This record gives sequence, structure tokens and C-alpha cells, in this order.
Amino acid sequence: MNDKYVTFTIGRRKNIALIAHDNEKPKLIEWCQEHYDILKEHKLYGTGTTARMIADKTGLTVKGYNSGPLGGDQQIGAKIVEGVIDFVVFFSDPLTAQPHDPDVKALMRIAQVYDIPMAINKATADFLIRSVYMDTEYDHEVMNFQKNIEERAETL
Ligand code: PGA
Repeated sequence: MNDKYVTFTIGRRKNIALIAHDNEKPKLIEWCQEHYDILKEHKLYGTGTTARMIADKTGLTVKGYNSGPLGGDQQIGAKIVEGVIDFVVFFSDPLTAQPHDPDVKALMRIAQVYDIPMAINKATADFLIRSVYMDTEYDHEVMNFQKNIEERAETL
């Protein structure tokens, strides 16, 4: 690829963000219990309530940010931009209006921009967690933001 892209590596040990809207929290907790042995090998993060509930109910260590409606989704998005979080499992609720819908969309968008694996339902999460890449490094091409700024600063 050209210099518009740079190669980033998602390490063997993933930095996984776990988020669930309220109606989906029981499902995510059960999913974490089911995949406990795999998840414990990775570093886990989450929005405030989700992180606390997973930690309490599974014994996994989960670093919690703010609650989603209070900016937690945005914090996780920022960690993707910083290269700290490189994998997202987000059981969003497709049937209930969320006050922080713009934040949810922003998180999904930034995961796309940075080519981050992101599961938004259980079936996708099941496929991801069983992927061969869970045990290996994964190289992917991400937009070269330095180059992008240079070009924009020169041409705009
Ligand atoms: P919560 O936030 O884990 O604090 O409930 C999740 C969300 O609603 O985005």
C-alpha cells in the first residue's frame, strides 16, 4: 500500500472493550462467563456499569471508564484513537432509544476508521472470540494520520 496507510499491529494479547446497554447486560455477562478462559488472557476494559457488573459476576479484571451515558463510550473511542484499545465487544440494544446515541455512533465510526474488530451482537462476538487471530498478532492497514494532516495543511 502507499504512504496513505501505515501498518498497525494488534498484539497477541488484545485490549478488549466490553460494553452492553442495560437490556443486553445479562447476555454480555453470560458471554463473558462462557468465554472466561479466553478473556482472562487479554486485558479488559469497559464502560462503568458494564465493567463493574462483569467484574463482580465473573471475577475477571475489567478496567472501568465512566458510565456510557456519562461519556464512557467517548472515553473508549479516545483509547482506540490512542492505540490503547484494539478490540470491541458492544452488545448494543437495537430496540430501545438511548440518550447517548450520538456517542454510540461515534464509537462505531471510530472503530471503522481505525479498522478495529468490533462485535455488536453475540453471534459476531462468538465468531471473533474463536478466530485464529485471538492467539496471534494481526497486522492491519490504518490511515496515516500524520500524512493526512500534512496533505490537508498544504492543500486547504
Ligand atoms: P454502562 O454504559 O456500562 O455504564 O451501562 C454502557 C452504555 O450504555 O453505553
